[in-house]
Amino acid sequence: MPLTSLDDLFNNGLRDMYYAEKKLLRVLPRMAKASANERLAEAFQNHLAETETQVERLEKVFDLVDQKPRAKKCPAMDGLIEEGNEVLKGAKEKNVKDAGLLAAGQAVEHYEIARYGTLIAWAKLMDQGDAADLLAESLEEEKAADELLTTISEQVNETAHSGAEAEED
Ligand code: FE
Ligand code: FE
Ligand code: FE
Ligand code: ZN
Repeated sequence: MPLTSLDDLFNNGLRDMYYAEKKLLRVLPRMAKASANERLAEAFQNHLAETETQVERLEKVFDLVDQKPRAKKCPAMDGLIEEGNEVLKGAKEKNVKDAGLLAAGQAVEHYEIARYGTLIAWAKLMDQGDAADLLAESLEEEKAADELLTTISEQVNETAHSGAEAEED
């Protein structure tokens, strides 16, 4: 689509996030299943439920700006997921795998936080206050998910680190 206005950029960004969130619906269950740490598995599982709501919010936002919900390939999310898959395939030790999954998860959250932040700013400029409010709800969930992953990582990273040290001895 030609990008001639801020509206175009906004619609383009919505489609990008619609693709990214829908893709995460398929990826988060795999990440939960691959997590040895119970809190981590639960965090991914809970974020899956939130992601379902986020997809619905995006559909409401499309409606508010008179657009049909359409997904547009997001190479950034595809790449982040590909990096996560490298961890899934490559890491054998469970704590190391969990640490890698946490890092992959946080990279995803940061991407989403960046995108929602921008979309909210643009929605406000375009006097789409209701759209901005919906997107802000998703942004808050992404931030909370990121913070929870940080909390869990403090324990998991420590265990992965001391496990690796034990092997060196
Ligand atoms: Fe999300
Ligand atoms: Fe993207
Ligand atoms: Fe998220
Ligand atoms: Zn994050």
